[in-house]
Amino acid sequence: MSWLTEYVRPKIRTLLGRREVPDNLWVQCPSCQQMLYHTELAKTLKVCSHCGHHLRAGAEERLGWTFDGGHYTRIELPKVPVDPLRFRDSKRYTDRLREAREKTGLDDAIVVAHGSVGGQKAVVAAMSFEFIAGTMGAAVGEGLVAAARLAVLQEAALIVYTASGGARMMEGAISLMQMPRTVIASRMVKEAGLPFITVLTDPTTGGVTASFTMLGDIHIAEPNAEIGFAGARVIEQTVREKLPEGFQRAEYLHEHGVVDMVVKRGELATTLGRLLSLLRIKDLDQAA
Ligand SMILES: [Zn+2]
Repeated sequence: MSWLTEYVRPKIRTLLGRREVPDNLWVQCPSCQQMLYHTELAKTLKVCSHCGHHLRAGAEERLGWTFDGGHYTRIELPKVPVDPLRFRDSKRYTDRLREAREKTGLDDAIVVAHGSVGGQKAVVAAMSFEFIAGTMGAAVGEGLVAAARLAVLQEAALIVYTASGGARMMEGAISLMQMPRTVIASRMVKEAGLPFITVLTDPTTGGVTASFTMLGDIHIAEPNAEIGFAGARVIEQTVREKLPEGFQRAEYLHEHGVVDMVVKRGELATTLGRLLSLLRIKDLDQAA
């Protein structure tokens, strides 16, 4: 303990009448360091009211913000073998999974639901970065395949919110196999003539970027989201060149044609609804 914690803090506490602010009332904006109250953040969809920084959001929050009136039906996702490689690094993989489940209340790093978005039928899959860095193992792969199947069955659009550190290394090659599987899943939706939109949120990296994410009919990104395959430092070391300012950020990728639009979180649901209605005009023509 330093003199700061031992002496100064108790003194300050005495001066303030020993009233401490509970930690769960506010969070600090990672960009401008301002204090943001949870109640206020709930109203701004977790966007900092001081600097506009988009804080990371949970998968269930995404669903609530996207579907009309916040109404949706979640589907149960297929169960996958737990820890097929009996993997262990500093911890057992089974322990990591248990802890992540307790922390997030989710089974794995993806949730899938159906409902309507802007009055159009839609299946939405949302990834959770909170769950082992949103890594894609068998469960996420199964989740995406289930979402694509449901979209085809319901003749609905498929929207996927990505947030991922890449492949789940604890599942080794099984994790890598999810790349072709999710590519096939996205193709199923396209072959059925249904819209497939990906919304890239901070961060979307590794095998998730290198598979279904970049196969959307339209790629939307949230402002300043980090999007890439390998990290900037690794690339710099490989190419031995300084990378440009804002490299791997949503705005840079938009300027260079990787991302079609950068949309603020508060305008996402409306934008998605508008895009779905535009993409489905052909259906209406055929019906008429
Ligand atoms: Zn801020």
